[in-house]
Amino acid sequence: MEKYDVLIIGGSTTGCWFADKMAQTGAKVLVIEKQMPDDVSRDYDIFHMGEADMKRFDLDIPEEGNPVREFRFEHSNMISPYGTICKQGADAPVIGLHKHDYIMLMAEKAKSHGAEIIYGAAFTDFIYGHGKIVGAKYKTADGEQEVYAKIVADCSGIPSVARTKLPGTSAVCNFKLTPRDIFYVVLYYIKYTDKNINPRDLDGFFMQYKSWSAPAGKDYDAILGIGGSYSYDYSEEIFNAHYMRNVRYPEYTVEKVEKGMTPYHRSVYSFVDDGFIVMGDAACLTKPTCGEGCTSSLVQAEIAVDVISTLLKEKLPLSKENMWSINKRYMDAQGKDFDFMRPLLMGIVTLNYDEAEYMFENEIIFSDALFSGMDGDDLNLKPADVAKWFAGIAKGVANKKIRASAVGKVIKGLKQALEIAALYEKYPETPHGFDEWKAKAEKKWTEIGSLADTCDPEIMEKLGY
Ligand SMILES: Cc1cc2nc3c(=O)[nH]c(=O)nc-3n(C[C@H](O)[C@H](O)[C@H](O)COP(=O)(O)OP(=O)(O)OC[C@H]3O[C@@H](n4cnc5c(N)ncnc54)[C@H](O)[C@@H]3O)c2cc1C
Repeated sequence: MEKYDVLIIGGSTTGCWFADKMAQTGAKVLVIEKQMPDDVSRDYDIFHMGEADMKRFDLDIPEEGNPVREFRFEHSNMISPYGTICKQGADAPVIGLHKHDYIMLMAEKAKSHGAEIIYGAAFTDFIYGHGKIVGAKYKTADGEQEVYAKIVADCSGIPSVARTKLPGTSAVCNFKLTPRDIFYVVLYYIKYTDKNINPRDLDGFFMQYKSWSAPAGKDYDAILGIGGSYSYDYSEEIFNAHYMRNVRYPEYTVEKVEKGMTPYHRSVYSFVDDGFIVMGDAACLTKPTCGEGCTSSLVQAEIAVDVISTLLKEKLPLSKENMWSINKRYMDAQGKDFDFMRPLLMGIVTLNYDEAEYMFENEIIFSDALFSGMDGDDLNLKPADVAKWFAGIAKGVANKKIRASAVGKVIKGLKQALEIAALYEKYPETPHGFDEWKAKAEKKWTEIGSLADTCDPEIMEKLGY
């Protein structure tokens, strides 16, 4: 029986990147991917990544003219609910790529460094030895197979096929993502009737509807996208009943529709257990601002490569204790900032459209200072900006432009965000004290709830939820 250092479940962006980097350190790597090569990641076509992130993570940037690459654009805009005010984000070039084709390039790169990939191979269960994970069973057209490895990495995305099979006693949470924890994204590829329109002038993100107009490549003028909890039906209802009513677009035709899911949930508390790690969407590492996850996942994956390759070289066991620094380093590098944003955003999206429009106009929260300093997800906030917001909010309440109840929700969100940040600062350095920390985190997240709690009650009722 052949034994690998690393067995990776799922050969999409996270799995291929991790396979490539581990193989480059000299590890013996196997990826099992459920789909056949032609079918990998076909749910939606174009995705984008920040050029700076691509460089940072050594992701190949296809040259202009390469069919995998579709476009490059600079800065994203944030637009007020009625589409009347547009605030420009920092210049941060973004590359648009065809996802299936790009993943196939990533897979080839991993193979060129020695990683093996078996397609049409679906994980079914762990193999245990002396109570610890020592490998996995998987199914192919030829029947059930077994493979042994020093570590099994779950990179299977939303289904989290391996993580959800862990026992409840594991340090890694085994919850299944429910429709409340998922963003259902609908993408409309459109063409404007008036050919004189410059589609780039209309690009921007509408936080209040979790909706956007983005570049679409040469065949279309724009992608109008929307994400919502519970179902695609809910997302489309919000799009038609709210966004299209409030935001005036020039006449267009819908040429193509795509749908896909992305997790919208706090990250798992521990990524590692003995002989196991969870990564990517399976660990809920998507950005809280937009649900993108291809490069945010690599922040944790990069740390994992460093820790695991060192342990392999030193011939030390890939145990929970030895790999714990992956948890701590990730929480410090990104986790605490992402999970700080979640309650804050939940507070902000409870503002009604008139209130948010007023805030855009009056530089409260939705300010030039905030967006122009926003490079990727880093918010460059100064105490003086926050003090100005509070003064503006007080004026808005006095002028009856903002409801006192809405302010209460925003302040509650901010308070909860600060509490989460303080708790995550104290993430344990070792597994010792983790149970106590986890109990505190569970209590906090139960109080905070989910973005699904901010869904429109009328639409929920209409859809029978
Ligand atoms: C419409 C839409 C647009 C998006 N746009 C962007 C964007 O522009 N930029 C960005 O960064 N992010 C974007 N995202 C998010 C991004 O797609 C995900 O964060 C990213 O794909 C996560 O990669 P992953 O490798 O962790 O998981 P996945 O891409 O979900 O891959 C998991 C892999 O595991 C395989 N698998 C599943 N079960 C098994 C099994 N039993 N055995 C073996 N293999 C299995 C699957 O076939 C799949 O190939 C978007 C999401 C959606 C829905």
